[in-house]
Amino acid sequence: MTNAEANSGKKAVIFNVQRYSTEDGPGVRTTVFFKGCPLSCLWCSNPESQQAKPQMMYFSKTCVQCYACVKACPNGANKIKDDGSVWVDRSVCTNCGVCVKVCLADARSMSGKKMTVDEVFDIIQKDSLYYINSGGGVTLGGGECTTEPEFVGELLDRCYDRAIHTCIDTCGYTPWSVLEKILPKVELVLFDIKHMDTEKHKELTGVGNELILENAVKIKQMGTRMIIRLPLIPGYNDDENNIKVMGWFMESWGMDRIDILPYHRLGENKYDALGMNYSLGDLPNLAKDSISRAVKILGSYGLEVHVM
Ligand code: SF4
Ligand code: SF4
Repeated sequence: MTNAEANSGKKAVIFNVQRYSTEDGPGVRTTVFFKGCPLSCLWCSNPESQQAKPQMMYFSKTCVQCYACVKACPNGANKIKDDGSVWVDRSVCTNCGVCVKVCLADARSMSGKKMTVDEVFDIIQKDSLYYINSGGGVTLGGGECTTEPEFVGELLDRCYDRAIHTCIDTCGYTPWSVLEKILPKVELVLFDIKHMDTEKHKELTGVGNELILENAVKIKQMGTRMIIRLPLIPGYNDDENNIKVMGWFMESWGMDRIDILPYHRLGENKYDALGMNYSLGDLPNLAKDSISRAVKILGSYGLEVHVM
């Protein structure tokens, strides 16, 4: 048994362990999605990642109106509308999951379950050969994986022991005291920057960007490989000025690569399933001109630019 295997039995709430992922770092990877995030971005495509606790999701379009959930709910949270459809009163739902078990139409599911480091690592190591052959590895994302620093530290130690390449995908809104303990175990950081103006950043994500930009600079100075990621949202952060300031910031601190993540609305139906409001419902798709303009501007600062 290695030191890493003498684990604490600590658990974290995970909402997905996605094998054969190709968009979260180099090669074929396993991406571990942690639940819980200090940001709440307007465009978040994984709204189930925002709260740390497991949550019941209800997909009303799949409901066949059998009302088994109405009878089963111990809190009377499932109600029948005049038209016969079912809705969930989130003010009394405790996310106990009882209704998920009785719904034979698969209109309900639980997002997130507590897992041990052993359980997560067992899944990760199944694909060791793929990692070796493709230059891949494991990516810890979310949500925000750094909200579980002890769990993440143990999991990264396990990966190190088996020579599995390690990457974290972070929003950067984490105390430096936490990041500096994790980073020596990380080979690549995917680091999101959403807006260069702190007031606008706050409007879009709920928090200012000072800590995030400070952490980006510190990671660069520490020498850990880092790729900046910019979710490009039409009308919110794709203006020329914001892109120029981002290019200038990266050039000034010697950061060399940025990945543009064009806006999409793939997670929209999950908002309804969680009883959340999707405030960007009327937003048009990102224009190709906007992407090419961002690529051109960022390239003019000598950056390696990728569109994902
Ligand atoms: S998760 Fe529990 S409390 Fe919520 S609707 Fe289902 S049975 Fe009721
Ligand atoms: S148990 Fe499932 S299918 Fe039946 S009413 Fe409830 S959500 Fe709809």
